[in-house]
Amino acid sequence: MMAELIKAYKPICCNKAYMTKASALRHEKKCPKNPENCACKTCSHRIETTETYYNPYHNGDCGSTDYDYKYWWCEIHEKKIDVYSNSNGGATILPKMNCEHWESEDTE
Ligand SMILES: [Zn+2]
Repeated sequence: MMAELIKAYKPICCNKAYMTKASALRHEKKCPKNPENCACKTCSHRIETTETYYNPYHNGDCGSTDYDYKYWWCEIHEKKIDVYSNSNGGATILPKMNCEHWESEDTE
């Protein structure tokens, strides 16, 4: 096996490697996991919650196809942030960056 040792740059937020410092920094600037971006992913106002999906097309067996799904909720904007799976048609609604209400998750 042939392998060559190279130098790479890792952004502070993720376990990724970039060949140039510029691209690592570019990643940090737009990454929702970087607390400096004040994005929903790192915000203490993001609440994990579940809701039951009531399927109206239940083939006469009411409730048989209902299911619970998990999503993230923003208590400030009172909006859904992100749904675990998109199978119920719920797309990402509030993936906010540089939010004015952002608060760190580890302030408590
Ligand atoms: Zn990142």
